[in-house]
Amino acid sequence: MSRPLNVTILGSTGTIGVNTLDVIGRHPGRFKAYALTANSRIEPLLKQCLQFRPRYAVVLDADAAQTLKQQLELAGSDTEVLCGATALDQVSSTPDVDAVMAAIVGAAGLKPAMAAARSGKRVMLANKETLVMSGRLFMEAVLDGGATLLPIDSEHNAIFQVMPAQFHRNLDGNGIRKILLTASGGPFRRWNAQELEQVTTEQALNHPNWVMGPKITIDSATLMNKGLEVIEAHWLFGAEADRIEVVIHPQSVIHSMVEYVDGSVLAQLGNPDMRTPIAYALAYPERIVSGVDPLDLFKIGHLDFEKPDMRLFPCLRLAFDALRRGGTAPAVLNAANEVAVAAFLQKRLRFLDIPRLIETTLEQLRITEADTLDDVIDADAAARVVADEWLVRQT
Ligand code: NAD
Ligand code: MG
Repeated sequence: MSRPLNVTILGSTGTIGVNTLDVIGRHPGRFKAYALTANSRIEPLLKQCLQFRPRYAVVLDADAAQTLKQQLELAGSDTEVLCGATALDQVSSTPDVDAVMAAIVGAAGLKPAMAAARSGKRVMLANKETLVMSGRLFMEAVLDGGATLLPIDSEHNAIFQVMPAQFHRNLDGNGIRKILLTASGGPFRRWNAQELEQVTTEQALNHPNWVMGPKITIDSATLMNKGLEVIEAHWLFGAEADRIEVVIHPQSVIHSMVEYVDGSVLAQLGNPDMRTPIAYALAYPERIVSGVDPLDLFKIGHLDFEKPDMRLFPCLRLAFDALRRGGTAPAVLNAANEVAVAAFLQKRLRFLDIPRLIETTLEQLRITEADTLDDVIDADAAARVVADEWLVRQT
């Protein structure tokens, strides 16, 4: 390659962002951090800028951007600081950029991911909320923009790896019967209903296998993460709800599987470390060193599988229902979940009230078609209002 691939990392200070920089740092001639972005915490962003010397640093918050600018000037850095949501779109779509890691958490990640797709980038999608909210529109933007979409979510990355190279979202045409989406089961896999009533925020933040940001960690504990991933798999691979099966696999070594009509089941295995899917997406279709330890099968010893319990973990059922219902239902589910998780993290909501709040919000709102981005954004906003009102009534 003549020049390094210019990479924008949306959410560079988050778990995925930090892992992406770790892989990029191992291949300095091959990848260049073009733009790094953060919400408001500038200390880690300052450090990243001094180490990786990106062309731009984007901070959502204006005051924080000003402070970062002063600190970078003081340090003699030539990184330019931009601020606000439009700057996120700009560093995701400018012709100078080749690849965009979409790793902002939540609905806030939708617009810049869409901008990257429309402008034909290599889009490395960690922000699953984008596909949950606006799957059809996003996939259309990828197609129209000529973008290359590479899933970062470990399960979807695994599925992508074991599918035929040009599967074109056509399961039947490729002899695929089913997608088997694995899930660790989270920290409460063996808990009963009474115990689940008592779950604390600290317990829910303690994931057995993965180190992740707080929102997705709570989603993993409620199994909403798997629910969002079912919807994500639907859009990425053209799989109807009935052809996606969730398999609890507590070791998190098999990252997902694809079942073919001849009886073959292909799986991708590896240590639970996001640098594997990140490296795969960065170098695709090549393979590069990621820093992940080789898998030690003898140490792992055995692999277990269980059926998920949708009665104890209703979030998974709610997500399947929203996928089947279609239109704005997944966007409403996602927004209500974001409100519920934020409230749970602030200790304003109990663990089992998370699905209750989501279900109530879905019941109260009229579900419409999701034909335009405005339909999706309006549904997201309306769901947040309804969910917030419910919260106020409860507390
Ligand atoms: P995180 O909380 O660690 O990081 C989030 C990043 O987004 C931070 O850089 C933060 O500054 C930025 N951000 C937050 N709110 C923002 C806003 N309103 N505007 C602009 N930037 C904002 O999250 P994470 O664990 O890295 O997850 C990021 C995304 O990747 C999520 O969508 C998550 O579901 C997905 N994902 C994460 C993992 C993982 O292992 N962490 C695995 C699969 C998928
Ligand atoms: Mg995942």
